[in-house]
Amino acid sequence: MNCFHCDKSASGICRFCGRALCKDHMKNRIPYIITIFVGDKQVPKAVAVADALYCGVCKPQPEPIEMPELY
Ligand SMILES: [Zn+2]
Ligand SMILES: [Zn+2]
Repeated sequence: MNCFHCDKSASGICRFCGRALCKDHMKNRIPYIITIFVGDKQVPKAVAVADALYCGVCKPQPEPIEMPELY
């Protein structure tokens, strides 16, 4: 698989959309929320990975998207 940006051989994958990334294009790192749960005192808490690989192209949503049209 080659990098989505420059066609060099990829060494990683965007955590959010699955695009392949080479070492040069892996620089973008953003928090990746694995799950959100309600902790003590009803405060929602997020379990996150601090620097997940990110392609810089896709647009990860910070929260699950509502899709009322599916119902
Ligand atoms: Zn690249
Ligand atoms: Zn991506």
